[in-house]
Amino acid sequence: MTDPSTGAGAPAAEAHLDTVIVAIDGPAGSGKSSVSKQVARRLGYGFLDTGAAYRALAWLALERGTDTSDSSSVLDVMGDFDYAISLDPDEHWVRVGATDVTAAIREPRVSEAVSGVARVPAVRQAVNALFRSMVAASGRPGVVVEGRDITTVVAPDAPVRILLTAAPEVRAARRSAELTTQDASAVAAALHKRDASDSTVVDFLSAAPGVEVVDSTHLDFDQTVDAVIGVIRTNVPAQTGAHNDL
Ligand code: C5P
Repeated sequence: MTDPSTGAGAPAAEAHLDTVIVAIDGPAGSGKSSVSKQVARRLGYGFLDTGAAYRALAWLALERGTDTSDSSSVLDVMGDFDYAISLDPDEHWVRVGATDVTAAIREPRVSEAVSGVARVPAVRQAVNALFRSMVAASGRPGVVVEGRDITTVVAPDAPVRILLTAAPEVRAARRSAELTTQDASAVAAALHKRDASDSTVVDFLSAAPGVEVVDSTHLDFDQTVDAVIGVIRTNVPAQTGAHNDL
């Protein structure tokens, strides 16, 4: 894998030893990616989409014609996984080697394959170490890290830990509004299938002790962002100077 200190796309700067981690977990379609990005913008924080790493690995496996349900084949691909992602919420890109895969990793074929690579324990350990290095090298006062196991495995000691949820039908409707070229019922079916598969690996449907639930079922985008910033305000003392607008 690539050196994470060069892979993180934030401006080069000395590591912030006290980087505030805002850990956000949730199922597909909960809005966690767009909400996390906007929260990061408002606070001057970095934004780390952890699902992109699993997607990029699945993309590489598909490029090579690898059987993504076979763990040892997936591990072979992992050995050559040269991954980089931007932590800048205003400039999103994901690369594997020299290839920009920002759009390709959102294709349905990748979404279908991703759970297979994400269930390999050695893959999870390797990408989790990479995520921690990227946060430490971000050069920002804080990083919003979003995924499925951030509150429980990647950063269980984070000062802010949130589970972002929404009713299943609301999540399916949001996702199909994003993927306008695909049939709504097919999008809903794919989303529920992926959640069912992912939830056998990590539990992201119920909050671990100490994790705050933000239910966005009846909230619009701005209200959800405000709700998350409210939780951060409560948990990160303003006098640390770790955020811009608190
Ligand atoms: O967040 P997103 O839907 O892009 O994640 C893609 C996939 O990556 C998930 O379906 C899941 O299999 C995996 N994932 C994970 N742990 C994370 C983030 C994502 O297993 N922290």
